[in-house]
Amino acid sequence: MSLASLYENDPVYQQAVQQLKQAAAILGLPDEVVEVLRHPERLIQVKIVVKKDDGKIATFIGWRSQHNSALGPYKGGVRYSENATAGETVALSMWMTWKNSLAGIPYGGGKGSVRVNPKTLSPRELEELSRKYFAAISRMVGPDVDIPAPDVYTNPQTMAWYFDEYSKIVGYNAWGVVTAKPPELGGLTARVVSTGYGVALGVREAAKKWLGGLEGKTVAIHGFGNVGSYAAKYLAEWGAKVVAVSDTSGVVYDPKGLKVEEVMEVKEKTGKVTNYRSGDVKVYSSDKAVFGLPVDVIVPAATENVITKANVNEIKAKLIVEGANGPTTPEADEILHKKGVIVVPDILANAGGVVMSWIEWSNNRMGCWLTDEEALARLDKMMTSNFNKVFDEWEKKYKEYPMRIAAYAIAVDRVVKAMKLRGWI
Ligand code: NAD
Repeated sequence: MSLASLYENDPVYQQAVQQLKQAAAILGLPDEVVEVLRHPERLIQVKIVVKKDDGKIATFIGWRSQHNSALGPYKGGVRYSENATAGETVALSMWMTWKNSLAGIPYGGGKGSVRVNPKTLSPRELEELSRKYFAAISRMVGPDVDIPAPDVYTNPQTMAWYFDEYSKIVGYNAWGVVTAKPPELGGLTARVVSTGYGVALGVREAAKKWLGGLEGKTVAIHGFGNVGSYAAKYLAEWGAKVVAVSDTSGVVYDPKGLKVEEVMEVKEKTGKVTNYRSGDVKVYSSDKAVFGLPVDVIVPAATENVITKANVNEIKAKLIVEGANGPTTPEADEILHKKGVIVVPDILANAGGVVMSWIEWSNNRMGCWLTDEEALARLDKMMTSNFNKVFDEWEKKYKEYPMRIAAYAIAVDRVVKAMKLRGWI
């Protein structure tokens, strides 16, 4: 059995390879280059032994996949999940290569995971697991080598443990080894708003191109957590009319516009957007009602596979900007493309978090810290210029394809060009 068989049979990995092949076909890349790109440069598996509070010992398996470093050090989160596999980890690391390439930041792609249900561990056990995982991969990571960050069930506290463990091993404060750290340890407070802010920037730039600007345009947002609520907040600040938001409790809709800050307060206090009451607000109990509303823009910002063959024909919006990962199924994507609805894909629209991570990492390495305003202004400048580069390249070279497919092609092309320049292929 080859090491590659650890991931080759995984369905998530196969999906990632499928997308790579689609991009390669558009770019006319030969199979031998696809073969280079479909494997990670390095994949390690580590064993983590935790002494439990009750005196027993528990063994966990973790991975770090370093997919491609042509554009810079590997970058990508670490997730704790009882369903984690080597295949999923490799696939996610490949997606990070394309996402970072498309975001125009000098990073390659990496991803880590530990197969664990973190809810079964006490806080002390979780700390031990985190420190031991990072110690086990410590020789493969570093500020110039591979820079992890949070993902599912990891957070700034986890990053603080990783940073401390690594710093003890190398003997100095290695600020740049992880990002999304707490502000006290070199993180940026603006990190919390950055993905939603980036999604709002995507809406703003796409609205300039296809809707004649953002001012007065109506927006509906599916999901009102970290990404959805900050996207709503900035869009309202910049002149759009956020008329509907949803969470698992349902939808609140006011054609005259919601008071976003008030909805945020209600959500914070009661856990449900449907407790918001103001003006002529209508409440729907199904969160999916958000997709059929008469609006200009929809921002899916909750979970995957919510725009499907079953509800795609209800959509009246002309523009969809994906805050969530994978909210549109491939069938729905094709229907939207045929109907002329513009879908700004997740890989482009939700990169605000990783771009802010790059700003944090740059700060750490320079030893100077930006204020929130400066960091957000930097994010705005980088993402706006990058969005427009991608839009222009799409229109010039790949217009017959949906923007998602074009985005993959642009991302893969940038990586392949870097590999050629370096003499790797
Ligand atoms: P979150 O947990 O803060 O918020 C999720 C929101 O979606 C909540 O309001 C929840 O009520 C709602 N929700 C969940 N399931 C739903 C359903 N079936 N129907 C309607 N609403 C539902 O999560 P988040 O960090 O905002 O992430 C949202 C999406 O954005 C995810 O797909 C995530 O992978 C993606 N994303 C997040 C970041 C980030 O920095 N937070 C970065 C990139 C991508």
